[in-house]
Amino acid sequence: MGRFVECADRRQDFLLPASLDDYVSEDNPVRAVDAFIDALDLKALGFAGMTPAETGRPAYHPATMLKIYLYGYLNRVQSSRRLEREAGRNIELMWLAGRLAPDFKTIANFRQANGAAIRAVCSQFIGLCRQLNLFTRAVVAIDGSKMKAVNNRDKNYTAAKVQSRMKQVQDNIDRYLEELDRADREESDIAEPKAARLKEKIGRLRDQMRALEAREEEVRLAPDQQVSLTDPDARAMTSAGRGTSIVGYNLQAAVDAQHHLIVAHELLNIGSDRAQLSTMAAKAKQAMGVDVLDAIADKGYFKGEEIRACEGIGVTAFVPRPLTSGAKARGRFGKQDFVYVEQENIYRCPAGERLIYRYTSVEADMTLHSYWTSNCQTCALHDQCTTGKERRIKRWEHEAVVEAMGRRLDRKPEAMRIRRQTVEHPFGTLKAWMGSTHFLMKTLKNVRTEVSLHILAYNLKRLIAIFGVQPLIAAMQT
Ligand code: SF4
Repeated sequence: MGRFVECADRRQDFLLPASLDDYVSEDNPVRAVDAFIDALDLKALGFAGMTPAETGRPAYHPATMLKIYLYGYLNRVQSSRRLEREAGRNIELMWLAGRLAPDFKTIANFRQANGAAIRAVCSQFIGLCRQLNLFTRAVVAIDGSKMKAVNNRDKNYTAAKVQSRMKQVQDNIDRYLEELDRADREESDIAEPKAARLKEKIGRLRDQMRALEAREEEVRLAPDQQVSLTDPDARAMTSAGRGTSIVGYNLQAAVDAQHHLIVAHELLNIGSDRAQLSTMAAKAKQAMGVDVLDAIADKGYFKGEEIRACEGIGVTAFVPRPLTSGAKARGRFGKQDFVYVEQENIYRCPAGERLIYRYTSVEADMTLHSYWTSNCQTCALHDQCTTGKERRIKRWEHEAVVEAMGRRLDRKPEAMRIRRQTVEHPFGTLKAWMGSTHFLMKTLKNVRTEVSLHILAYNLKRLIAIFGVQPLIAAMQT
């Protein structure tokens, strides 16, 4: 065989280590899982089954079940069936669960029945990070990522999708009817069986059409005009940048810029991030226990009211303004080419004219002030500026908040780089761990539990990377 590392003879007798503990090294992450869960007050966190029943078969202690799950999510073994198998053959898990191997139904039921308590453990973990003084730099990056649900795109219906499928089915029916006409006119021996086949196909398509008509009604009656058949809470959402659409959930996360810990998260079944900034920032601020917080987000979060709400709760927002000006897109001056002069309450236009305040209106619950000058019609830049009589500029009553944020961003050009470096790592890691199918459970309530387990595992891994297993255990026990 030459010079190779030689394996042992599997039939040879060994004097194996006397205890299971000898197989688990001192720096094995399972020791941190064990210490963390043993330090929790599971009853206060709301776990069911903390008081054993007087009669019947003894139940598994919730701590054992939680250890099995946290181990599973740390090691990409999320399914209850696979966890059952691992509990019977994996030495680390045997050590962690004290050689208990619950069946997959018991494992699955625990996750299903203790969603709120598992989410509370996730928050408790951030409390531990706070005690360890990890949040000295109060900066978070907030972002959202669309995660696939257990619901195929073909099993998600919106009014437009139903319409387009009905059109496809109708086109096929028309095509087969024409073929049937031709077959009826033919006088060959194959004409009759061909016609029978076509009639059968048309019959099947008409059944499909009837099913689609019923689905159309179902979609119409749904609160948000959308129906998902496998996971009723999953929604179709577009993935920013790639222009692709998935059926799934929107995971919002606030990640601390120093240690990349996910300090706050929320799972939504609405695709837009626009209304999430202040909610996520408030959660992050509370979780980190800080008085002031810098929150950096991408332009998908830009919304005047949200930025103003952040100011009200002690959060300094850094969100770039998206370039949505229709005039700019058509090659004319955009609003950013007009400079507001606060002392005079006027706008200065590219031709140097003063656009003065005219009147106030309310649009979509926002109080807007309108400005214009009477000199537009004689202006040399008129065609570059407007297609109307004069160019009007509207200003939100709290626009100063947004302008101040723009100046902050100019003074902190590295903010977007910090955002990218901070949030993309956790989302990439979570998606890699979840695999291509992402979630295993259905409905918003259950998927929220699953997300909390993923985030708990991610944060624990980060903490082990920061401290090491034994120093972390020592810190947990103090
Ligand atoms: S058209 Fe009116 S607002 Fe535009 S540049 Fe000329 S004067 Fe200024």
